[in-house]
Amino acid sequence: VKEYGSNHYKIFDKSMIQQTKNKMYLENDLRKAIEQESLTVYFQPKYNLRTKEVIGSEALVRWDHPKHGFLSPLEFISLAEETNLIVGLERVVMKKVFQSLQAWKTSGLKPPRTSINVSFIHFYQEDFVPYLIDKLADFGLKGSDIEVEITERMIVKGQADVNKKLKALREVGVEISVDDFGTGYSSLSYLVNLSVDRLKIDKSFISNFNDNKEIISTIISMSKNLNLSVIAEGVETEEQIRLLEDLQCVEVQGFYYSRPIAGEDFQLLLERGLTP
Ligand code: C2E
Ligand code: CA
Ligand code: CA
Ligand code: CA
Repeated sequence: VKEYGSNHYKIFDKSMIQQTKNKMYLENDLRKAIEQESLTVYFQPKYNLRTKEVIGSEALVRWDHPKHGFLSPLEFISLAEETNLIVGLERVVMKKVFQSLQAWKTSGLKPPRTSINVSFIHFYQEDFVPYLIDKLADFGLKGSDIEVEITERMIVKGQADVNKKLKALREVGVEISVDDFGTGYSSLSYLVNLSVDRLKIDKSFISNFNDNKEIISTIISMSKNLNLSVIAEGVETEEQIRLLEDLQCVEVQGFYYSRPIAGEDFQLLLERGLTP
C-alpha cells in the first residue's frame, strides 16, 4: 500500500494535474475555434526548379489563439487527432481553401493545384471521398484544382481500403502525394500497387543532406522508375538546391523560396504571375 501510495503521488503531482487541465482547456478552445471556423489557412508555394514557376501550394492550418497567440499546428494537431476534432478541423481547412480558390478563380486568377493535408482518422471516415467531391462541386471547383497529402505511415496501416479511396479521388482528377516519405518504412512492392502521383521527400532528410544523400537519391530514382513525381520539402539553402538539381529533382518546397504565407499574400503572388 505504501509503495502504491508513493507511486500514486508521483503520477498525480501538481504539474501533471496542471498539464491535464491545460490540455482540457486547449481542447475546449479548439472545439470552439472549429465551431466558429476561426482557424486560418496559410499557403506555401511549391516551385519547379527548371521553369522557375510556382507549380502548386500546400495549405497549412494556423490557429490564432485568443490567449496564447499564433499557434503552430505542431501544438494542436496531435491533440485534435486524439480527440477526433481533426475531422471538423480539416473540414474547416477544406472550406477555407475552397473559398479562396473559388474567389481567385472568379476574379480571373489561375491558382495552381493546392494540396491539403488529411489525417488518417479523417481519411478513414466512410464519407471522406463523397464529402470532398460534394464540397468541390459546392465551390465550383474541379478535382484537378487540388491534391491530397497523406502520410506514408497511414498507407502502411490501411491497405486495400486506402487504395480504393485513392483511386476514387484520382478518378475525379485529385492528385495524391505521399507526405514525409522515407520515414514510414513502406516497401517498394507496396508503392508499386498504390494509386498515388507524387512522393514528398521528408524535410528531415533535406536538412541533413550529406548524411542522407543515399536515401534522397534512392527516393528520386525510385519515383522515376515508378513514373511518380517527386518533391523535396524543407529546402532552405542554395546548396540544397544545387544538390537536388544534381540528383534531377525538379520540384521543391521550402523557406529558401517562401515560407507559408497568408491567403492575401499568396493572391499577390498570383497577381504578379507566379514567378518568384
Ligand atoms: P507537413 O505536412 O510536413 O508540412 C510542412 C511543414 O514544414 C510546415 O510546418 C511548414 O511550415 C514547414 N516547412 C516548410 N518549409 C520549411 C523549411 O524550409 N524548413 C523548415 N524547417 N520547415 C519548413 P507547419 O505549418 O508548422 O505544419 C506542421 C505540420 O502540421 C505539417 O507538416 C502537417 O503534418 C501538420 N498540419 C498542418 N496543417 C494540417 C492539416 O490541415 N491537417 C493535418 N492533419 N495536419 C496538418
Ligand atoms: Ca504536408
Ligand atoms: Ca453539396
Ligand atoms: Ca512533410
